Amino acid sequence: MKTALVYSDAWTRFDYGAEHPLRMERLGLTWRLMAAYGLTARPGVSVHAPEPASEGAIAAFHAPAYLEVLRAANGGVEPRGAARWGLGPGDNPVFPGLWDAARVCAGGSLLAAELVASGAATRAFHFAGGLHHAMRERASGFCYVNDAVLAILHLRARGLRVLYVDIDAHHGDGVQAAFYEEPGVLTISTHERGDYLFPGTGFVEEMGAGAAVGYAVNLPLEPFTGSDVYLPAFEAVVPPLVGAFAPDVVVAQLGIDSHRTDPLTHLELDVQGFARAVRRIVELAPRLVALGGGGYDLQNVARGWTAAWAAMNDVALPAALPAAFAGDARRHEFQVATLWDEPAPQPAHRRVRAEEYVQRQVDAIRRLIFPTHGL
Ligand SMILES: [Zn+2]
Repeated sequence: MKTALVYSDAWTRFDYGAEHPLRMERLGLTWRLMAAYGLTARPGVSVHAPEPASEGAIAAFHAPAYLEVLRAANGGVEPRGAARWGLGPGDNPVFPGLWDAARVCAGGSLLAAELVASGAATRAFHFAGGLHHAMRERASGFCYVNDAVLAILHLRARGLRVLYVDIDAHHGDGVQAAFYEEPGVLTISTHERGDYLFPGTGFVEEMGAGAAVGYAVNLPLEPFTGSDVYLPAFEAVVPPLVGAFAPDVVVAQLGIDSHRTDPLTHLELDVQGFARAVRRIVELAPRLVALGGGGYDLQNVARGWTAAWAAMNDVALPAALPAAFAGDARRHEFQVATLWDEPAPQPAHRRVRAEEYVQRQVDAIRRLIFPTHGL
């Protein structure tokens, strides 16, 4: 089995701004932890640096007028009427090199898709990708260009059947919207419920439209949902749908902002629960294009995505972080010296509340969506 890691240090040229929660250095930190574990230079592993995607390739999803605005914003000065396109102070700032950064990110996910489509790799991971909120003509939620949608479109153009699964703490609204009327792509998103968290959508009742009713699947979660409640719900929903839909390729968005110390969300997964979900996706996917996503506590991001990449290579890692990583762990104030988290028992009332909520969602999915797929 061949696996491909898509990575370059292009991120060092870009910065959303000092106050912005999306820290580009999370990418370098993740790469260094993977390298310290020996995961970047193993037999069967190839590493690929992406080229920026062409504007034409990005126009496969995004409106040309929006791309013109992104291009005009590349100098770091807000173009006139930027707010109309979702750009401006706050979530989607205009920063120097914005368009270059978006193009490299899109190029990385397109490269991961092509490596898998061509058979060069069975599983590819582009952890700088997964910017799932970008809409056809609007930046949203730190995302300017939707590389996940572009990767799916690329696989579709190669004649492949695609299932998208998104385990970020936020609803994968941009990807859902892109394929809402397209039964050739099944989208599944698990996330904190939209009445507590951005982007406010992702309820079970959003099921797709027209010929694609039943092809958008949402599993919302109560705040404080931990791994022990999350994993059985994931298991009840994802494997049956993957089995019934029988994709050629799974595209997975592996945001790790579901972690209990993430500063932007209220879910309570630990790294081992996140890694367990990733292992299930790896087992279920005949071929896999994996992307990153959210994750705003740097140590979770590095540990979670390293665990994810280990899973994609069928490697069990030693729990202790490698000695070669000690300097980084110190500089970034890692709270634990291991890949995995300490157990953190929850108050029973929170667990019960999370369990009852998610059970209602699973029941609704079984009632409303499973019959469409013969389940
Ligand atoms: Zn997120």
